[in-house]
This record gives sequence, structure tokens and C-alpha cells, in this order.
Amino acid sequence: MRVTLANPRGFCAGVDRAIEIVERALERYGAPVYVLHEIVHNRYVVEDLRARGVRFVDSLDEVPRGSVTIYSAHGVSDEVVARGRERELRVIDATCPLVTKVHLQAQAYEREERELILVGHPGHPEVEGTRGRIRGPVHVLSTVEEVERLVVHDPERLAYVTQTTLSVDDTRHVVEALTRRFPSIRGPELKDICYATQNRQNAVKAITDDIELLLVVGSKNSSNSNRLRELGNRKGLPSYLVDDERDLDPSWFRPGLRIGLSAGASAPESLVQKVVARLRELGASDVRELPGETESVTFRLPPELESDAH
Ligand code: SF4
Repeated sequence: MRVTLANPRGFCAGVDRAIEIVERALERYGAPVYVLHEIVHNRYVVEDLRARGVRFVDSLDEVPRGSVTIYSAHGVSDEVVARGRERELRVIDATCPLVTKVHLQAQAYEREERELILVGHPGHPEVEGTRGRIRGPVHVLSTVEEVERLVVHDPERLAYVTQTTLSVDDTRHVVEALTRRFPSIRGPELKDICYATQNRQNAVKAITDDIELLLVVGSKNSSNSNRLRELGNRKGLPSYLVDDERDLDPSWFRPGLRIGLSAGASAPESLVQKVVARLRELGASDVRELPGETESVTFRLPPELESDAH
């Protein structure tokens, strides 16, 4: 069998930063450190941090007053920020700066008194966080059909923002439908959304013509990992999301099979390498990696943790 690794894949700068924030908080303040929601959507990362003294909670009400509490990379609503203050928590915000940029953009449109459309999946923590930064009603949608059915107050005063980890192609279609139906709608440049989402999807598209099966290392609740897997499905390829090498089912493979391998933005490279090792055991003899877009994006740590950064 032959394995082609998509490049780039795996950790993005926002995930790197979020994990480093939790690790530094553990070093500096000691366990337990509380994290609201999963810091990033990866089972392995979450279990590793849990074993080191991190307590993941779904609500700030579960956090003892005054405790060190980290907000996940997906961002939080104004209500959560207010609740954190009320409980006098020592908050460290690991929201990815690219998500914060979406919050600020949405708030700028709100100041212009525009009705807001959020292109994204309802219920995802990032979408709920962004929705919760806006006082007025927000329309959350993710398909062209939903655009066609949308009822708005004033078609002349609309704006949209998007979830950072959507399918770049789907988002383009939705935005085109919005612009067709509401020609004066305002919105950010699509290319500005998230470099990592775009690059990982481009990298998978670059290999799908030359493979017969796609594996994506990532957890089931990881939005961007699911979008990568869908790229394989759309090409008609059997495509599987695996947490690690233990999820590989030998019945998926046969001699001579051409396999593509990628990883979502929240999946560590160590897991990719374990998957590669297991594929070798299952008969992969040729493992190659394509040259891809070089990524040099890094984000600064929050000021309260930056002084000992290196
Ligand atoms: S996928 Fe993009 S928006 Fe999400 S954490 Fe990574 S860099 Fe930030």
C-alpha cells in the first residue's frame, strides 16, 4: 500500500496557543485549572490535560469562586464573560485571535445597525460564542436553501460573518447566494476567515485525485476534521475520521491501495505518526509527503502568561 500525507495538516496556530496557555497555567498556578468546554476538540489532548490536573466544565457554575479558569479556543459569549466576573474567576482567555476577529467584525456590523447573519452550524461552541457577542437577533445558517428561505427586516441593512472552520467551498456558495439575494449585504473577505482551514482543505484536495481512501486524524466533534473527511466523500472515496491508530479497521485495506492521510487542526502530529506506524504494520511500504503551503502564523500568548514565554 502507498500512503500520501497531506501537507499542511494538524495543529494550527490557534490550537497550539490554546494548549500552551493551559500548560503554562498549570505550571504557574498548579492544579486544578478549570477549562470551560474542551480546550480544543481532540479527545487525546483533552484526556492528556485531564490527567495533569485540568478540570473541564460545561458551565462556570461548576467552578469554585476565584479559581483559575480558561476559556477555550472557540470563544465565549458576553454572558459568559459577565458570569466569570460575577464569580470573581481568574480568567485566562484562550479564544483564537481569528475567532476574536470575527467577534469584533460582527460587533462592528451591529454598530452600523445591520441585521446579522452567521454562516455556521448552530450548537457549535464557536457559533454560540459569536452569537452571544451580539445583542440583537442573529440568523444562523449554513446552506443555500436556508438563504432562499431567510426572512429579514430590511434587505438593505444586512451583514454576515462566518464560522472559522467551515468548508471553504460550501461557505463560498452560501455567501454567493446571500449576495445574489441581498446585493447590498456587507461581509468580510472570504480569504480572511482562517488560513489553517483553507490550507488544510486545499492540501486534501491536492491528493484526492490520486488516492482511493482518505483517513483524517481527528475527533468526531471537530468541525474542521469533519469538513476534511467530507472532501473525500465528495470525491466518492471511502473516508474515515479516526481518533488514533486503534480506530483503523484492517478490513478497509488491501494490497496496492493508495491511501491519503490528513489531520484536523486540533489533532497532534504524534497521532498521525502512530497511524502511519500502524499502516506500515498493515502493509504500507511507500509513505510520501507532498510539499505544501508553508505556514508561519503564530499568535502571542495572553499578557498574564507572556512574561515567561519563549
Ligand atoms: S482553525 Fe483557525 S480559527 Fe480555529 S483555532 Fe485554528 S487558527 Fe484559530
